[in-house]
Amino acid sequence: MSRIRLLDPLTANQIAAGEVVERPASVIKELLENSLDAGAQSVYLKIENGGKDKIIVTDDGFGMNADDMCLAFQRHATSKITTAEDLSQITTLGFRGEALASIAAVSRVHASSRQREDAAGTELKIEAGSVLSTKPSGCSEGTSIEISDLFFNAPARRKFLFNASRETAAISEIVNRLALSHPSVRFTYYSGPRLLLQTPGKGRLREVVASVYGLDLAEKLLEINYLKHDVELSGFLSPPQIHKATTSNIVFFINGRYIKDSILLNTIKEVYNSKIPGGRFPVAILNISIKPGSVDVNVHPQKLTVKFDRPEYINSVILAAVEDCLSRPDTDTWFIPQIGNDGAKQFLPNVEYHEPQHQVAWREVVQERSMDAPVEDPSIDVPKPEEAPANDLPMPLEESPAIKNDIPAAKTTNINASRSGAGIPIMRIVGQFKAGYILAEAEDGLYIIDQHGAHERILYDKYSQGTQLGHSQLTVPQTVDFSADEAEYLVEYIFLLQEFGFILEHFGGNSFILRGMPRFLNTSDGVNLLQDIVQLLASGTKVNQQDLEKELLLQLSCKGAIKEGQYLDKAEMEILIRQLAKTSYPLSCPHGRPIVIKLSIADLKKLFLRQE
Ligand code: ADP
Ligand code: MG
Repeated sequence: MSRIRLLDPLTANQIAAGEVVERPASVIKELLENSLDAGAQSVYLKIENGGKDKIIVTDDGFGMNADDMCLAFQRHATSKITTAEDLSQITTLGFRGEALASIAAVSRVHASSRQREDAAGTELKIEAGSVLSTKPSGCSEGTSIEISDLFFNAPARRKFLFNASRETAAISEIVNRLALSHPSVRFTYYSGPRLLLQTPGKGRLREVVASVYGLDLAEKLLEINYLKHDVELSGFLSPPQIHKATTSNIVFFINGRYIKDSILLNTIKEVYNSKIPGGRFPVAILNISIKPGSVDVNVHPQKLTVKFDRPEYINSVILAAVEDCLSRPDTDTWFIPQIGNDGAKQFLPNVEYHEPQHQVAWREVVQERSMDAPVEDPSIDVPKPEEAPANDLPMPLEESPAIKNDIPAAKTTNINASRSGAGIPIMRIVGQFKAGYILAEAEDGLYIIDQHGAHERILYDKYSQGTQLGHSQLTVPQTVDFSADEAEYLVEYIFLLQEFGFILEHFGGNSFILRGMPRFLNTSDGVNLLQDIVQLLASGTKVNQQDLEKELLLQLSCKGAIKEGQYLDKAEMEILIRQLAKTSYPLSCPHGRPIVIKLSIADLKKLFLRQE
């Protein structure tokens, strides 16, 4: 007897379902793509319990007749191609004819559909791949497919699904992408009673961007339109002043199909590389239109990657288009402060350009003077910040601040036991260099201290001990919009964020009201930080509470710390260094960058070729 046998269709479909139907989001991707392929102008989606209990997709597309309805749920049944040659000219999102069969094999389906020209429609019920009933139906034009109890007959698969909010977030990401690539279609998306997305369907991409990402961002994005021979590029790019914590806002569509492409992603990152801070990423929504024949879409089970005929060419066109867009004269006009027409302000000293939050953050450190200094050394007359003369405080060597003695290669000369800790070289502030570095001398050499890193370390230690974290109430509460998937995470983590000082309230849909934020942050920094954190959560990179806490502390200390460009007087520098000396690790900032660099006397002698 032969050992090999052909699998029955149901088993074959269940196996296929393993490739196509991974989770509720993949079911929704297939159903929505079918609606779009059916020429729908309006698509309605509703999910319950992250799509695990119910998914309903209703469209106003061209529908199916009774025969097609039965065929549609069979494997390799498609109206989109006839022969293998057609594969090279695909203009639809689907073409393999296996999605509905795969979905039906692992769920309960209730479908109804009517073609415009037909008097009546058809209703069909399927359970685990077996048709339970078909009957005529008075349904409206278009198609409605309801999927219940996904994986009810595949418990091992169901067990591996995430909680409802995480599944909802994955679904939202899919819906957002499809909405962005189809601005002419009106998308309505509910999770239970919550409306998560509504796009106008008027064909204007900026309006869709506003629905997905919020109006604030949509207004600031730069439009890109570029045509080179047979490649057309359209969409939006962020100006360099807007950057995000992850690459999740860089999306590519090829002929209306969302794809992942690491080469194109790298190209975008490279163009922005020198324009935005390290570790930050732009927003880019790019629609690429090319001849269907010059791209192979049949190379990935979920059709998430494609193969270009001429990848280098496409890449070079995109590079040119993005560079062109970013070098347009209007690119950076919206953020330039109003400086009048004479441009005279350009020559004013730096101090004119300090942002208010630096001062606020700094005051915190300076205020400690009144707590620290008199107790530690009543003999030093340290004036309050307002009274502090801009320069030259009395700074006797013995009373100067100290740095811990574990500076690499530093041979500590323990002159006295300073109150800031034993074995610390006494230092005297020499001055500030380029409003960013403190120069200090000790017995054994010259020390250069990065003022931002030092303050960052001080704040990080303070916050991690749970002290000083608090919030300040906003006088004018801010409405902050998120994308649907981000909003999902925000709801999940709202209490944790509250512990860190973000007082948030769910306003409805994807909008939240921010009533308070961590102290030291000004409103725009606070909103940006919140957006970054939520994006990190949504990207799945920071999921456990510990990671999130660390990230929050890092961000809070970085945002709260004085920046380069902030002038400090000697007393301020003194306090900064004294506080730094008390931290857990004064030599590097919480990101791991060095804070203190030492040039020993021997180093200097060597440099001046004066070695004895
Ligand atoms: P594919 O999309 O690859 O053709 P599917 O299994 O997703 O395969 O769908 C099978 C067929 O069912 C489609 O080719 C299409 O003819 C029909 N169909 C599915 N969904 C719809 C819909 N919403 N409106 C009209 N026809 C549909
Ligand atoms: Mg399909």
